[in-house]
Amino acid sequence: MDIQTLLGITILAIFLLAFAIEFGSGRLRVSPRPGRDFLFTLTGLFSQGMISGALIGSAAGYLAAALWGGEAAGSLSHISFWIAFPVIFLGEEMLHYWIHRYAHEWRWLWKIHRTHHSAQQLNVGVVYRYNIFWVMLLPQSWVGAFAFYLGLGEAYAAAVMVTFLTNVLTHTNYRWDLWLRQRMPWSEPLWWLIERVITLPDTHHAHHAYGKGAHPNGNYAVTLFIYDVVFGTAKIPNRKQENFGLPISPRLHWAEELLWPLVRKPLLPRTVKAETPSGPAAAN
Ligand SMILES: [Zn+2]
Ligand SMILES: [Zn+2]
Repeated sequence: MDIQTLLGITILAIFLLAFAIEFGSGRLRVSPRPGRDFLFTLTGLFSQGMISGALIGSAAGYLAAALWGGEAAGSLSHISFWIAFPVIFLGEEMLHYWIHRYAHEWRWLWKIHRTHHSAQQLNVGVVYRYNIFWVMLLPQSWVGAFAFYLGLGEAYAAAVMVTFLTNVLTHTNYRWDLWLRQRMPWSEPLWWLIERVITLPDTHHAHHAYGKGAHPNGNYAVTLFIYDVVFGTAKIPNRKQENFGLPISPRLHWAEELLWPLVRKPLLPRTVKAETPSGPAAAN
């Protein structure tokens, strides 16, 4: 079995296991729209696996052939894993940080990223909740195509596994970080350090929240939270968040969420609940 297939199967198996645990324990039903969430996750999985992967693979293959005429295939395979892995991982995380940050700062890019933020509860399904064009912009997709071409598939696969596991651990509905900290108060100095270096549920839940303990326009790093610390976008609330999603989440049309800019729809009318002072529209 080649490394690409093995990586795909491992990721899918871990994702399905985590999803089954949250489903079995009723964690997915706390969302007000579990059916819609499930459809979005399925679409994300399908578009990443079947459409975007193939498109980016072909585009990167074409680019590589145009640039190097096929001579570079496997040309970096002699580089040690212990050099290739940190270079790919640190580089990819840095690129992701900036693309994610621009996605929050530039309006047209925000509409492609917004689908990830419209989830009104957090769970592992949100890892694959996105507009189908978002994955085409992610550095991981492009870096992967070139890494395999150049013979750095193993180092790339290791980097993907680290970011994937972080995504599962930071999107899960379980606040395992608070659970551990409450049971081991003596370990606080360690957590102080850890939470400034890597992303934890605390900081990523804050990125998806509004209201108390929220920090939607910051905490952009997938794994290396230290980039947020260095670039001044870090906020560490150390608490459980109450409201997730966007105040306009209930008013977004599903087709625009998945397919913008191909499909553009006006905001749906406000519901009676959204118009009350305590409703989601007033919560921000
Ligand atoms: Zn974001
Ligand atoms: Zn997220």
